[in-house]
Amino acid sequence: MSAADVTRFAPSPTGRLHLGHALAALFAAREAGPRGSFLLRIEDIDPGRCREAFVEGIFADLRWLGLDWPEPVWRQSRRLSAYAEALDALRAQGLLYPCFCSRAEIAREIAASASAPQGPDGPLYPGTCRALPRDEARRRIAAGQPHAWRLDVAKALAGAPPLAWRDRDAGIRAAAPEIFGDAVLARRDAPASYHLAVTVDDAAQGITCVTRGADLADATHLHRLLQHLLGLPTPEYRFHPLLADAEGRRLAKRDGAPALADLRAAGVSRAEVLARIGWAA
Ligand code: GLU
Repeated sequence: MSAADVTRFAPSPTGRLHLGHALAALFAAREAGPRGSFLLRIEDIDPGRCREAFVEGIFADLRWLGLDWPEPVWRQSRRLSAYAEALDALRAQGLLYPCFCSRAEIAREIAASASAPQGPDGPLYPGTCRALPRDEARRRIAAGQPHAWRLDVAKALAGAPPLAWRDRDAGIRAAAPEIFGDAVLARRDAPASYHLAVTVDDAAQGITCVTRGADLADATHLHRLLQHLLGLPTPEYRFHPLLADAEGRRLAKRDGAPALADLRAAGVSRAEVLARIGWAA
């Protein structure tokens, strides 16, 4: 925590919050401290997975935890023009290319290739559409073929100085954005990827310390490059450990991690929830 940090908790309304979210939200609020600001942002750009019904639940759960935040709460679904502008800026630098590959085509290509390097988000894209002649790409776009937009990371790095960021626990970290390969910045089915939207919004909201789970720490490599390419400031970072269940497995909704709302309904107190996540208030 430094003098007056601005931090945020940025859940996606794809389900009800569980204990892991409670830890993430409290961690962000603590990093802001009494003199800083703690913001809430709803990351709802994935139309296939986000449900409006979960948004009210998020507000109620966080209030129950004792958190408060300024209004209005930003919603990524209302920020699409900002993401489109960022994409235009990258396109104007010649750093994006349209990718027409389906998931199945990418998987086939990877299976057929001798090496399949892995990145933090899964196997790296083999680069199939990078070599597509411009005319053909234009023709396919004009014909209405679904496509994503990918970052040509080698080209982006060729023009960039060495990049780094400060992790408040681990110190200065050198950025290695190439570990993501040619990341998707605009999806076929959503106007921006997580990586683009979160980087643009953290800058637009003046976030000075980005907090998130240790499982997402590697995303910073790519976010740092996007900040450079878009002329955005670089916040500091702090990562919290992930909660594990009794067997030491990471707590996740899909494995039946209890929802905060259910705990509350069962009469579990806030103090008990804090104890269960090992939170010393
Ligand atoms: N919206 C993301 C999620 O729910 C987290 C945002 C972030 O901290 O980068 O997992």
